Amino acid sequence: MDNLLLPGHDVALGRYTVVRRLLPQRPRRMVGAWCFADAFGPDDVADRPGMQVGPHPHTGLQTVTWLVEGEVLHRDSLGSLVSIRPGQLNLMTSGRGIAHSEESPAAHPPVMQGLQLWVALPEDARHGEPAFDHHADLPVLSGDGVTATVVMGSLGGVTSPARAHTPLVGAEFVLAAGARTTVAVEPDFEYGAIVLNGAARVGGTPLVPGGLLYLGTGRRELPLEADGDARLFLIGGAPFDDPLVMWWNFVARSHEEIVEAREDWMAGRRFGVVRGYDGDPIPAPAMPTVRLKARDRHGNS
Ligand code: MN
Repeated sequence: MDNLLLPGHDVALGRYTVVRRLLPQRPRRMVGAWCFADAFGPDDVADRPGMQVGPHPHTGLQTVTWLVEGEVLHRDSLGSLVSIRPGQLNLMTSGRGIAHSEESPAAHPPVMQGLQLWVALPEDARHGEPAFDHHADLPVLSGDGVTATVVMGSLGGVTSPARAHTPLVGAEFVLAAGARTTVAVEPDFEYGAIVLNGAARVGGTPLVPGGLLYLGTGRRELPLEADGDARLFLIGGAPFDDPLVMWWNFVARSHEEIVEAREDWMAGRRFGVVRGYDGDPIPAPAMPTVRLKARDRHGNS
C-alpha cells in the first residue's frame, strides 16, 4: 500500500476549457471502478463562455459531475434539463447508451471549478437502460474542522443516495487550517486522493492540486491533515477486474464494441438526441489505425 503520486497532464476539452487528466494514467488506470478523472479550474469565466461541450455519446459508464464553484447546465437524450451547483451531484448512468451536453449558462458565476469522473459499469449493468439522477441533498459529516460530503457509497456510517453498481466510495473533504482527522476506510478497497484547493497530507504524503495520489488497498484508517485551508476528493472501491477498452467517450470490452458504438453515434442510432443545445453534436474522431486492446487496471493487455 505504498503511496504513488501520479502527476496528471493538461487536455483541451471543447473550445474553451483545459482540464487536468488524472485518470487513466499509464501506471494506474483505475481506482476501484473509477476509470477516468478530470479536474478543471479554478478558471475565471466572468467574460468568457465557460464550459461549452456539445452533444456527445457515452456507453458502459456513469459520469459523476462535482462542482466546487460555478454552474453547469446538463441536457441529455432522456430529456433531462438540470442545472448543477456546488455540493450537488449529477450522476448519469449510460447503460448501453446516452448522449448529453454540458454548458455554462449565459449568465454564470465568475469562477468555475470541479471534477468530472467516470465509473466503469460491470457486465450486468453496462447493457442496461440509461438514467440520469440529480442529488441535491447528500449526507454531510462534520467535526474537528473537517466537513465531509459523501457523494457516492458509504463513509463514516452514512450512505449517499446515489446508485452505484460496484462497491465504491466518493467523498469531498473540506479541511480548516490545522485540521487533523482519521477516516475509517475499507481494507478491501483501493483508494485515490485528489487535492482541489490548498495542500494536504493524505496517508502521510503531501499532496497539492494537479496530481492523483494512489493509496492502494489494505488500509483501515486514512489520516488527513492540512496546515492551511484545503479541499480534497477521495475515490475508492473494490478493485475492478474486467479489462476495459476506453476510447473517446466509450468504455467497452473489445475493439469491435468500440467500432460499433462509434458507428451507432455517427449514424444517429442507440444514443438518442439531445434537444435545446445551441450547437452541433460532436462527431466521433476517426478510429486509430491499430486495433484497440483491452487493458486491465494495471495497464496489461
Ligand atoms: Mn460527457
